[in-house]
Amino acid sequence: MNRICIIGAGISGLSIASEKKKLGKIVKVFESANRIGGVIESEEIDGYLLDYGANTLNVRLKSTKERLENCGAWDSCIDANLLANKRMIVRDGKIVDLPHSFLSFLTSPFLSIKGKLRLLAEPLVARSNEPENESVASFIKRRLGQEALDYAANPFLAGIFAANPESLILNQAFPRFAVLEKNYRSILLGLKKSRKLSDNPNLPTSRLVSFPNGMEELPEKLGCSLKNEISLSTSVKKISRNNNSWAVTVQKQTGEQTVHDFDQVISTIPSHRLDSIEWQNIKEHDELNILNSSTHHPLAMVYLGYEKKDILHPLDGFGFLVPEVEKKKILGTLFSSTLFPGRAPDGKILLTTFIGGERDPSLAQQKESILISTAKKELTKLLKIKGEPTFQKVKKWSNAIPLPDKQMIKCKKAAQKLSLQNPGLSFSGSYLCGVSLPNCLDAC
Ligand SMILES: Cc1cc2nc3c(=O)[nH]c(=O)nc-3n(C[C@H](O)[C@H](O)[C@H](O)COP(=O)(O)OP(=O)(O)OC[C@H]3O[C@@H](n4cnc5c(N)ncnc54)[C@H](O)[C@@H]3O)c2cc1C
Repeated sequence: MNRICIIGAGISGLSIASEKKKLGKIVKVFESANRIGGVIESEEIDGYLLDYGANTLNVRLKSTKERLENCGAWDSCIDANLLANKRMIVRDGKIVDLPHSFLSFLTSPFLSIKGKLRLLAEPLVARSNEPENESVASFIKRRLGQEALDYAANPFLAGIFAANPESLILNQAFPRFAVLEKNYRSILLGLKKSRKLSDNPNLPTSRLVSFPNGMEELPEKLGCSLKNEISLSTSVKKISRNNNSWAVTVQKQTGEQTVHDFDQVISTIPSHRLDSIEWQNIKEHDELNILNSSTHHPLAMVYLGYEKKDILHPLDGFGFLVPEVEKKKILGTLFSSTLFPGRAPDGKILLTTFIGGERDPSLAQQKESILISTAKKELTKLLKIKGEPTFQKVKKWSNAIPLPDKQMIKCKKAAQKLSLQNPGLSFSGSYLCGVSLPNCLDAC
């Protein structure tokens, strides 16, 4: 298995390609776009640096640090402002700080006294009898109570997956919590005890990072050693099994088609793009329909630039998230120019607001003018803004983030079945490995 075709030059494809190349394999990466990075894209407009996909990379795992070191990205990482440790949510129509210590937990208004007592009783709660396929909502409500579900899990999951806790499966979204409950009964006690274990995959201290020119520097660094291996503007059109090898038909933007022979094919393209390829002579062909159907919701990102003096809120944190019970039209906002330097011109502020997701998919598909006015209206109230934005931009995602839901379990089974029945063919990418960049860098 020496000649390997990798479909897609997003972070998953690039990471797999560089690992395989290091092992001495002959690697070819086909990418339909005219750039690498997939959903990771940064653009500078009028002095504002916008990240259209991932905004931050959490370096918590030792493996993430190693991958960044190996591709030369570690030294270019810039740390988020220390203020980013301060997270906020909306409670009763106002932005309040989330606690960062036990003392601040006791004094923070993010939960009522009843809600805090219920949360602190977590170590007394028994293990689940049926941990398989439990939703995140059921797990949080069972272990931490309804208020923690409404004011912590709900906004947090809207921030990560643009999804509701009711739709997500704990084993898929946060496998570590499922393991903690299984091994230690309590997640609070388990978190404390597991920190001391020698096989802990986490670094002693984590870093929240980006890059001076935005997150796109990450795929650029990964792609540096693969210059000769990547073919841009080249879509894979057909994959056909021929005895012991794989014939891969690709098409350039000019329309010119060529066929290449490989020992192994690894697809890292998103689930919703799999049906753009004709799959020929594949055993268990119907499994491709399952693989093709992971759940994604539309999401819109609204970037607004303001004069610093026009915003009365100090913007002294990561940003804020909005619990669904607060009935606002936005999911949350990143204080982008607080988070990393160079995101806005001097004297200006960049705010990145998320709209839609599972909570309101139709709103995410509205006209740009509606999305901008929705974000403006909510931000003006919450952040006490006096003036109008001096910069605005919208990025719409029709299939934003693959959800770790019941469908993901089916997709994983389908991918395994297809690989087993078709030696040399395998599937990877965020809909199978998990959406976070560390998961994609460790692409399975
Ligand atoms: C809005 C948004 C915000 C996010 N924020 C964060 C964050 O802050 N932190 C974090 O850790 N993660 C975040 N993520 C998740 C993370 O960015 C993604 O999970 C990850 O980048 C996905 O990488 P991938 O390589 O699996 O897929 P992709 O990036 O989708 O790459 C797949 C590639 O395949 C190519 N392709 C498709 N079809 C073909 C074909 N037929 N032939 C050839 N090539 C093809 C595509 O052009 C694409 O380049 C965010 C994601 C989104 C959408």
